[in-house]
Amino acid sequence: MNTLTLTRIDCPVCGHSNQFNLDTSNGDQEYYEDCSACCNPIHCNMHIDEVRGAIELSVDASDEQYF
Ligand SMILES: [Zn+2]
Repeated sequence: MNTLTLTRIDCPVCGHSNQFNLDTSNGDQEYYEDCSACCNPIHCNMHIDEVRGAIELSVDASDEQYF
């Protein structure tokens, strides 16, 4: 069964709109994606609402700092 969902994530650093595939087969996930424009890591929190069949995705800039 194909559980990949294409979604759009706006980079919190540069505002670029990225498209990523979400694998919703494993339930809630927390992971990082790299912005295709500025290469900064985007911290993604995915929550599956099984009651409503909805995917909630929240993003913020990485809390890791690179100097
Ligand atoms: Zn970016």
